[in-house]
This record gives sequence, structure tokens and C-alpha cells, in this order.
Amino acid sequence: MASSTSAPAAGVYGAEAMQGLVLRDQDMEKQASCPACGAGDRADFARHTFADRRLQFVRCRQCSHVYLDPVPTQAWYDGLYAHSFWEAKTETQQHQTVAANRTQWRKGLQRADKLIDALRGAGAVFPADGALLEVGCSFGVIARRVAEAFGLRAHGIEPSVAARQFAERVAGVRIVAPTMSDLAARKETDGFCLIYFSHVLENIVDLDGTMALVREHLRDGGWLVIETPNIRFPPSYSIFHPNCFSPRSLGLLLRRHGLQVARLSPSGRPATRLSPRYLTAVAQKSEEHAGAEALKGGAPSTDGLVMKTGHLWYRLASRPPLRLLDRWLTARAYPTTPEQRRALADIEALAERQNQDATD
Ligand SMILES: [Zn+2]
Repeated sequence: MASSTSAPAAGVYGAEAMQGLVLRDQDMEKQASCPACGAGDRADFARHTFADRRLQFVRCRQCSHVYLDPVPTQAWYDGLYAHSFWEAKTETQQHQTVAANRTQWRKGLQRADKLIDALRGAGAVFPADGALLEVGCSFGVIARRVAEAFGLRAHGIEPSVAARQFAERVAGVRIVAPTMSDLAARKETDGFCLIYFSHVLENIVDLDGTMALVREHLRDGGWLVIETPNIRFPPSYSIFHPNCFSPRSLGLLLRRHGLQVARLSPSGRPATRLSPRYLTAVAQKSEEHAGAEALKGGAPSTDGLVMKTGHLWYRLASRPPLRLLDRWLTARAYPTTPEQRRALADIEALAERQNQDATD
């Protein structure tokens, strides 16, 4: 069954932190078909080495989804994210939470505003008594802001104990379960009117199980938002991203699960103006749903060439002089707004008070 993971902050994946992590034969399973569209036709895409094991990424010829085959089991990933390096890192940060996390929180607030704009652009409206669920809510900064924008109650799923405590005590997010599999056991919810994954879905192995749970816990007419890397631009495949989405694969995954896509757009917001390195999908739960069979038909994807060009462009834009131009353009296109500064100051003040209470 699917489980959620929240992507740790950049820099957490240090070489020393990864020592001791092993991938055994019994941790690996074969994938019979594309996890996004269900088609069986694939081509070798890229090799990757992790813990002395050679891993193979393949590209679905039908939808250009890039995925690991064979792939580590979800149980292995759950172990990875609960691994001491992540918890230990977060715990040492607790006493210096504010300074250490300011950049991450600012990024979270910018991502929250992107999500809010995407929902408004799709014409989403929410009932007054509604609740949202963020899968992999980390410190709860995004959930808090989105909930405020739409007058919703904020709920989250988060495997990290330290992040979960912060989300509840500081950000005011109610944690409903540590992982998606724990959510599967809960049947008593009335349903959420908004569920979203911000840079989390690419970390999950079992996409069908995850989308089935989303459908089950989403109210009729409820909204789903997914923000994930766009495989057409950064070569984002790694052990941490067993699923890398193309615009087509993300759309097909949603349609196969009875989620009607209202908007699906690539953009670099808020990190870069020159490379549309993220995908944002907004979908609504439709009543009719035939089941998650493969979507047949349609010409094979020609994304192979598009991706090669995109990756070349991404490499060029990541180094001077284009990198300098990109920084300048990005700062102008996606500035930190006064509103975001105020929200950041709020979180910082709450965190300081929490630290104080913990020391007293
Ligand atoms: Zn596919």
C-alpha cells in the first residue's frame, strides 16, 4: 500500500548520512507496467547507482513517464524516510529551528501561493466547513497558508516525528496519520474537499494505491493538486524519485482514477524563470469512474527527443552566464511579496515562542 514521504531539505542527503543504507534483492520488485498510464511498452532511459547497486530507469513509450524498474519496495522507502539521519538532523535543528529553516519556510510560502493561484485559476470554491489534507506536510507551513486562504481546516500526513510536532504545535495543522497506509485504516472521515501533494508524489512507489486512497478520502466534487518535477527539464531521476512525471503521464494517472484535470501546466515558479522545471496539476473528483485500467489509444509519445533537448537546456541555464540572467529574471518574476514576509514573520514568532516554552 502506498505511503507518504516528505522530501527532506536540501543537503540532508550527505554521503555520510547515507552510509549503512543497503538495498538487498528482497527490497526490489519488478514493475509489470507503467505506474502512471498502465501501458507495458518501455525503453531503457538512464542508469543510476545507489548503495553499490545499479538501478535502471525506463521511459514509458506511451506517456513518457520515467520510472525505476525494478524498484525498491514502499516498505524500504518508509524505512529510508524514518531513518535516523533525517530524524537526527531535524532534532539537532530544533534548537536553532528559526534560523535553520527560514529559507525552507520562505520557499514553502511561495509554493503555497502558487498552489492557491492554481486553484483559483481552475475556479475552485470550497464549503465553509471544509477540511484540506496535505500529504507529506513537513513543518505545516504550506498547509497553514492554504487553509487561511480558503477558510479551511488544515490536516496533514507526515512520517517525521520532529516535523509532525512542529506542524501541530506551531503551524496549527492537525496530523491525521504518519503515512498514507495509516490513512487507509481510517474510514471515519467525512472526506476532504482538498487534498494536495507538494513535491511528494515523485517519492511514492505505489501510484495506483495512492490515487485510490485520494479518491476514497476526497468528497464528491473535491479538488486534488499535485506539484512535482517536470521530467522534460531537470533530469530529476534518483533513488528518491522512483516516479518522474511528464505532462502526459501525470494527466493520464489522474484520468485513470476518475479525476478530471482542470489545469496542468509546466512552470519554473518560484525557483527559475528560464526552465519550466515543475508541473502543477489541478483536478476535480468526478462521479463516474470506470476503474484504473490502462488508457489505450493515442500515438506513442515523442517526448524522448523533447526530454533530451530539455535536459540540455536545463544544464545550460544552470551555469553562467544564463544562470545569472535567470537569477535576475526570477527575482523580478517571483519576488517575495510583503504578504509572504508577514506570514514568514508570523511563523518565526510562533517558533521562537515554542522554543522558549520548550526550554522553560
Ligand atoms: Zn505510461
